[in-house]
Amino acid sequence: MTKPLDESIYDQLVSIRRYLHANPELSGKEYETVEYVKNTLADKFPPSFFVEGLGGTGLAATYDSGKDGPTLLFRAELDALPIEEVNNFDYQSNRSGVSHKCGHDGHMTILIGLAAWLTQNPPVKGKVVLLFQPAEENGSGAVSVLEDEDFEGIDPDCVYAFHNLPGHPKGSIIVKEGPFTSAVNSLLLTFRGKTSHAGEPQSGVNPALVMAKVIAYADEMNQFDRGRKDFCILTPVYATLGEKAYGVSAGYGELHFTLRTRNEDTMSEKEDKLLSEIYRLANDSDLKLEVDYTDRFYGNSNDQEAVDHIKEVAKAKGYDLIELDDPLPFGEDFGAFTQQFSGAMFCIGSGENTPALHNPDYDFPEELIDYGVQMFSGLTQFYTHTND
Ligand SMILES: [Zn+2]
Ligand SMILES: [Zn+2]
Repeated sequence: MTKPLDESIYDQLVSIRRYLHANPELSGKEYETVEYVKNTLADKFPPSFFVEGLGGTGLAATYDSGKDGPTLLFRAELDALPIEEVNNFDYQSNRSGVSHKCGHDGHMTILIGLAAWLTQNPPVKGKVVLLFQPAEENGSGAVSVLEDEDFEGIDPDCVYAFHNLPGHPKGSIIVKEGPFTSAVNSLLLTFRGKTSHAGEPQSGVNPALVMAKVIAYADEMNQFDRGRKDFCILTPVYATLGEKAYGVSAGYGELHFTLRTRNEDTMSEKEDKLLSEIYRLANDSDLKLEVDYTDRFYGNSNDQEAVDHIKEVAKAKGYDLIELDDPLPFGEDFGAFTQQFSGAMFCIGSGENTPALHNPDYDFPEELIDYGVQMFSGLTQFYTHTND
C-alpha cells in the first residue's frame, strides 16, 4: 500500500498555486512559470531527471524506478490567457491584461502535488513522467511537444490529463469512453477580387455576395445535436470587407470560422464539403481564394482501459462519477496525445456555481488540489506502483 500525501504538503501546494496565479504568462511565453516549476521540483521533490525546452518552454520531470516497466505520463498546462482579472484577492494577477482563467495554475499545482507523492512513494517499476506543456490555449503546445525530437526518448505507454469543469458538482469525476472533447479547427478564408467605382460594381469583382452565400451554406451544415455522429458547429467568428470608402466597391474580404465535430474523421468530411462549395462559389465569381488554418485542436479519444482505471479510482475514493453520453463541445489540445498514445482525459467538477472558464472572475477552486492528486496517484497503481 502507498502512503497518502502529508497534510503539511497541502499548505505548500496552496502557496505554490497562489504564486503561479499571481504571475501568469501567455501561450508560448511561459519562461518564468516553467523556471519556477523546475526550481520548486528540484528543491522540494527532485525527479530522477528533467528534460527542458520541450516544444518551446515545456518541461518533463521523470521519476524513474530504474527497473523495466511502463512509462506513465501525466500532463498539465503552463499558459494563462489574455484576460484582465477582476478578482481582488491578495494573490490577484500582477500582470495587466493576463490571468489564469482556465485553472492551469491549479493543474500545474496538482502535478507538483503528484511529485510530492512520488517522492514519498517512488515507482517500483517503470517511470512516471510529469509533463508541463506550453501553449495549450492556442492549440499549438501539444503538437510542438510531440514533434520535439527530445520527446521521442520519453515514448509513453499511457497518458493522462484532466481539466477542471465549472457547472458540475465540486470534486465529481466526469469521463467518457471514445471521443471526449471536440475536434476544433479554425478556417481563415481570404477573397481577392477587384475594386471598382461604387457606381459600377459590375465592372469589378466584389466578394460580398460570395461571402454571404458561404455564411448561409455553413449555417445549413450545422448539426447542434452533440449526440449525433455528424455533430458539427460552424461558427463565423470574424469578417471584413472592403474599406469605409463610399465611392469604392469592395475588392477584398476575409471570413473566419471555427469548426467543431465529434472526431477527426467527421472534421475532414465537413471541411471537404464546406471547402468544395467555397471553391465552387469563388471560381464562379472570378475571386481568388486563399485558405489557411489556425488553432487546431485534435479531439480527445479516450481509451477504454484508461477510462476503466479512472472509474475504478473515482469509485475507490468515493467520488461522484458522471459518465457523459456526448463529447464536450470545447477543444483541448491533449487530443494530440490521445490520438497518438493510449490514455484518457477526464474532468473534475469545479462546482455548480463557479464562474465559467475564461471568464474574468474565474479562479481555480483550491479544494480540487486534493481530488487531482488523489486521482493521479490512484492511477499510478495500475502501472508503476504494483509488482504484479
Ligand atoms: Zn482554456
Ligand atoms: Zn484549459
